[in-house]
Amino acid sequence: MSGKKALIVGTGLGGLATALRLSRRGYDVEMVEMYKQAGGRLNQLRSEGFTFDMAPTFFSMSYHFDEFVRDAGIEMPFSFVKIDPLYNVNFRGSDRRFIIYRDLEKLTRQFEDIEPGFRERMERFLDASGKLFFDIEKGVLSKNFRSLPDFILQMTKLPLKHLPLVLRSVWGELSRHFTSYEVRVIFSLVSFFLGATPFDTPAVYTILSYTEMVHDGYHNVEGGMYRIVEGLLREADRAGIKIHYNVMITDFDASGKRNRAFIDASGKRWEADIFVVNADAAMFRGRVFRRSGFSDERLDRMQWTLAPFTMYLGVKGRVENIHHHNYFLGERDYEQYSRGIFRNRVSLEKPYYYVNANAIFNPESAPEGCENLFILVPVPDLRFKPDWSDREQIADAVIKDLSQRTGHNIEANLLTRVVLDPVAWQNMFGLYRGSGLGLGHKMTQVGGFRPSNRDERYSNVWYTGASTVPGTGLPMVMISSKLTVQRIDDEIDSI
Ligand SMILES: Cc1cc2nc3c(=O)[nH]c(=O)nc-3n(C[C@H](O)[C@H](O)[C@H](O)COP(=O)(O)OP(=O)(O)OC[C@H]3O[C@@H](n4cnc5c(N)ncnc54)[C@H](O)[C@@H]3O)c2cc1C
Repeated sequence: MSGKKALIVGTGLGGLATALRLSRRGYDVEMVEMYKQAGGRLNQLRSEGFTFDMAPTFFSMSYHFDEFVRDAGIEMPFSFVKIDPLYNVNFRGSDRRFIIYRDLEKLTRQFEDIEPGFRERMERFLDASGKLFFDIEKGVLSKNFRSLPDFILQMTKLPLKHLPLVLRSVWGELSRHFTSYEVRVIFSLVSFFLGATPFDTPAVYTILSYTEMVHDGYHNVEGGMYRIVEGLLREADRAGIKIHYNVMITDFDASGKRNRAFIDASGKRWEADIFVVNADAAMFRGRVFRRSGFSDERLDRMQWTLAPFTMYLGVKGRVENIHHHNYFLGERDYEQYSRGIFRNRVSLEKPYYYVNANAIFNPESAPEGCENLFILVPVPDLRFKPDWSDREQIADAVIKDLSQRTGHNIEANLLTRVVLDPVAWQNMFGLYRGSGLGLGHKMTQVGGFRPSNRDERYSNVWYTGASTVPGTGLPMVMISSKLTVQRIDDEIDSI
């Protein structure tokens, strides 16, 4: 048993999972968090009797949670169910709702009138993305890279047949398989899960289509997504892990190759034997360790993901024509919209957005007979749109659009309305320029190119979470905590 003290900066899913894994290994774990409560982006907001999940609404690759509970020596602290259908999609100007079933028979019926031979085309598409998924999961996602050459060597071991998927975009790959505009758009939405668009996302990420349609699918959490955090907090409490909220780390004190303490905004020192940073791994190196390679100037030149513009609406009455997960897209301007949104070159008067109606699955999230709506509009980050004084107008436009498309007068029935723009997201959780998913996932920003999970200078500092390897999303964060703790296990004797 270690007996060493570990300080973790941040109580996002990555921080909490790492805390429990380290505690199982005998570390005395303490955590500091800048927000008022745990969870990071996996958070919760309450207003007027409604309980909203703040950001994630489902997750994939559930077996990474199974693996985590085994490693941490705990029981699964929350319940989840696989969903089918996955989501609904509506295009502006049309009453038609495409229901995305995992069941290929039912899915085919949704599309056969607009995409002749849909079933065979889909089978071919999923066959290719499935083969790639298993190679990537084994050869890249589950690996720690000690250096860039180590990563490049690993990449050369991937079968050559996948090379075109590195060079092509998600949109290019879908266009090879499907002819219908709607089919191409709908199955390219996975790029937005990476905070990017199908035109700038490498086709390797069509593996996400395989995970949603064939592999482990998507899961809803019973009682809401925050049950994950509540469950982990119960386990942390049992393990004697101490958590301090409203503490923002802004400085450090190091000597030679070792970090001695982190220092918070009030000047208080937080000492430990080892440190794990769950805050953004690039920004922390720049702003706390003040490394020139991660200065704001340098980071601004990198590719960051779209920012969230989120709305939390408590609505009287049940909204018809809506599923638990819904995408409301524009007319036939997808490419122009996608290419313009990053750089603030499209109007947010008529945005593309996602709606989660949580009370359909979790009735306790809203008062009886009411709807709990979470709306996510992917928008430009603060580099491209620093001024959000038009926040309420954008929210009004989305509410009007949704009212028209569902036939429910949402504005007249609003019981509560909370709007968070990228400035709010930046300030709550330290998201760089308000970017929702942090650094983008282009080929030169993943694997060995991503900020490493071991600090370059201080041998007793590691990083964990979506901002380091392997990348964003709840299952990737669970893998990240595993990889970080593997490194700590391997490297602790040499600190
Ligand atoms: C709008 C939105 C929707 C999403 N939807 C989904 C989804 O449906 N499914 C899915 O799988 N994923 C989704 N994601 C992605 C998912 O939320 C993230 O990948 C994941 O929660 C990141 O966890 P993390 O632990 O790496 O980081 P975070 O959750 O960001 O945690 C980092 C923590 O560190 C704290 N911190 C930062 N800096 C400091 C500091 N200096 N001092 C002290 N504390 C600090 C922060 O406050 C935060 O609590 C979504 C993300 C967003 C923004």
